[in-house]
Amino acid sequence: KKRMITGITPSGKMTLGNYLGVVKNLIDWQDEYDLFVFIANLHAITLPQNPKQLKQNTEEIAALYLAAGLNPENVVIFKQSEVPAHSELGWLLNTQTSMGELSRMTQFKDKSQKLANKSSIPAGLFNYPTLMAADILLYEPDFVPVGVDQKQHVELARDLALRFNNKYGENFKVPEPLLTKNKIKIMDLQDPTKKMSKSSLNPKAVLYILDEPAIIRKKIASALTDSENVVRYDPENKPGVSNLMTIYALLKNTTPENIEHLWEGKNYKDFKDDVAEEIIAILEPIQKNYQEIKRSGKLETILNEGALRANRVAQKKVTKTRKKMGLN
Ligand code: ATP
Ligand code: MG
Repeated sequence: KKRMITGITPSGKMTLGNYLGVVKNLIDWQDEYDLFVFIANLHAITLPQNPKQLKQNTEEIAALYLAAGLNPENVVIFKQSEVPAHSELGWLLNTQTSMGELSRMTQFKDKSQKLANKSSIPAGLFNYPTLMAADILLYEPDFVPVGVDQKQHVELARDLALRFNNKYGENFKVPEPLLTKNKIKIMDLQDPTKKMSKSSLNPKAVLYILDEPAIIRKKIASALTDSENVVRYDPENKPGVSNLMTIYALLKNTTPENIEHLWEGKNYKDFKDDVAEEIIAILEPIQKNYQEIKRSGKLETILNEGALRANRVAQKKVTKTRKKMGLN
């Protein structure tokens, strides 16, 4: 089987963007691939986190993966901090990376710009991509499934693998990003020119997987659109409606073009009502499973088992890397 690794940062609650962009695909891929899924809590701390909240978000996201349909018998699911090789290889790779290439990362530019105090940008935020390169290279995956927003980071991981191999001898497998079908990017409901993010400061702009139906209806009803009142797919000029069309199309397994056809001559209100009901219908069983998993108390055992399996793979790789660098 081909191997795949993917992570999600517990910097907030899982969003519909995360679900449609990545999680949903993993559920389909888990039988076909040897899959590693980690909750990237070491990435989360690149921005300020409340420790109690971080722990809770980490466990909630892990439970949501399972609730969405990941089977822990097939998939190795673990907390990143439980596998110390991530931190260690992250450091080793930092020494092989230039400030210039890290400065060019658009996620760094976006996130550092949003900080209230721009004169004190955490160094961890800057170094985020080298830790992510470590996350990937430790497991020698064939593919790394990511949304478009993470493609640049996977490319850095490729560069670092090649650079390291050239300098110290063959050590890392060069990973390929696997962009999800149609390069899905769900946008913010209040500012549809930027992507929906779980760390967003405006909860009204983000749909969370655990949102209750009444909340979902409210958020969709107040999603920013335009004054034309024509359901037409045009991301450039009509980003708000187009985003809702993308969501609806993904949930219904159809295309925005088809939806445009279906909604010809109808108004935004009717369309929004329908989008909201469709989201509610998709999320309901996931929310039910989530409650079930929480009640069962099995999550801790599953995560411990996952960490054990991940450590076996990662430890070997970091030891080999250390040796190559003369650190044995
Ligand atoms: P943060 O605000 O902390 O960056 P995030 O919502 O961007 O949170 P990540 O943990 O950075 O989530 O990413 C998890 C996965 O979800 C990545 O593979 C990323 O490409 C994907 N993803 C994140 N946001 C979206 C989105 N709006 N549409 C599609 N995919 C997304
Ligand atoms: Mg992100």
